[in-house]
Amino acid sequence: MTLPFDNSYARLPERFFARQPPVPVAAPAPLAVNRALAERLGLDPDWLESPQGTAVLAGNAVPEGAAPLAQAYAGHQFGGWVPQLGDGRAVLLGEIVAPDGARFDLQLKGAGQTPFSRRGDGRAWLGPVLREYVVSEAMAALGLPTTRALAAVTTGEQIWRDGFPRPGAVLTRIARSHIRVGTFQYFAARGDTEALHLLTDHVIARHYPGAEGPLGLLDAVVAAQARLIAGWMSVGFIHGVMNTDNMAVSGETIDYGPCAFMDAYHPARVFSSIDQFGRYAYANQAQIAAWNLAQLATCLLPLMGEGAVEAATNSVQGFVPVFQAEWLRRFGAKIGIQQATDADRPLIEGLLGRMASEGADFTRTFRGLITGTARDEFTDPAAFDTWEPGWRARIAQEPAGLMEAANPVRIPRNHRIEQAIEAAVAGDLTPFHRLNDALATPYVPDPRFADLEAAPRPEEIVSRTFCGT
Ligand code: AMP
Ligand code: MG
Repeated sequence: MTLPFDNSYARLPERFFARQPPVPVAAPAPLAVNRALAERLGLDPDWLESPQGTAVLAGNAVPEGAAPLAQAYAGHQFGGWVPQLGDGRAVLLGEIVAPDGARFDLQLKGAGQTPFSRRGDGRAWLGPVLREYVVSEAMAALGLPTTRALAAVTTGEQIWRDGFPRPGAVLTRIARSHIRVGTFQYFAARGDTEALHLLTDHVIARHYPGAEGPLGLLDAVVAAQARLIAGWMSVGFIHGVMNTDNMAVSGETIDYGPCAFMDAYHPARVFSSIDQFGRYAYANQAQIAAWNLAQLATCLLPLMGEGAVEAATNSVQGFVPVFQAEWLRRFGAKIGIQQATDADRPLIEGLLGRMASEGADFTRTFRGLITGTARDEFTDPAAFDTWEPGWRARIAQEPAGLMEAANPVRIPRNHRIEQAIEAAVAGDLTPFHRLNDALATPYVPDPRFADLEAAPRPEEIVSRTFCGT
């Protein structure tokens, strides 16, 4: 099988990356191939499952037409500046052009050391690989922009994490591109204006063909991120590491590390074990995104000429109205209002406030508005009863069906992901595949998956996620 490569990033100057083939592994074995995604990309799923396909997915064979490289980038991690990060354990094989002309990066994550590995081993273990597979595919099925998982393989090697030997794995990740805010920061920090020009043109051509110049690009990225964050919030998603190197300029969700979908709602909810001060808490995400975008704006200033600071400031401030409108549209739909206005905010916030103080499950409460079971989610159902009449009056004239399309029944709950990983480590992939199947149709109730629709029992609750990737 020849893959339809056309590697535009590899044609940028050499200082954008390090040419680096994946490092072969001892004994590649297939774990999962995303057949539907393969077909969408114009790739043969049977070939991907074959020994030759497995060799490519493990990095043991480099397919014809690939131009493997590790991308250079920098970033602010938890607000602290790191002038050089880069792909330390990922290799971009190249870009493939799908039958409809859409261009996608094909990246192997866990493909061995690169010049950007610092002290890392360049590898990934099975747990985080399966986690990213499940959560990124769930995100796509929920209808939100995200990188995708094309495949996962095991390496036959053990790697050390947190003092334990773990089974090694490689994830094949698909993205519109892997260009990050941190990619711009890498060149801005080096005063490399020429590279910034080239990168700007590259990103415009690839993601925002209508955008004019650096300011047009900034406007477009700001709007895409504002919509994305509102989308995350509408499904209770907490990214967990919104560092500037983990924010894609395409507006896709990227880098599923210690991320989580909330069970019980609380605006201050944090899962990541390393987020001590709640920088990336649920309700901080819009503010952090705007902060990250201000870093992108700063990088673009040298390209903008006169009035740059004011224009860039206005552009970043454009985040707020786009985010607020999208938040209102999404949360309005969640409670059954087609065109919510600012006058509806108190109603939405009244529900969220009660959910927070009564430990209500985010997903089940909204879905319960349809089935009449929402009040059961509140420790004290009377809290819901004081909200319900005003809501019923408000939606009396609204069209039916809005809530069914805005409120998923199934999300990738932490405890289910952990259980699927535990089983996979013990050699049983059944729960992993079942979870993927269930999450492919998140808006459709299905009695076969009742266990995946339930909230965790108290002893099942997972309140910490780890970066030990
Ligand atoms: P992340 O936390 O996945 O966003 O990674 C932050 C940075 O650390 C990136 O530059 C990664 O490439 C690098 N990194 C993470 N894990 C490893 C590893 N096991 N080996 C080498 N580099 C790594
Ligand atoms: Mg990252």
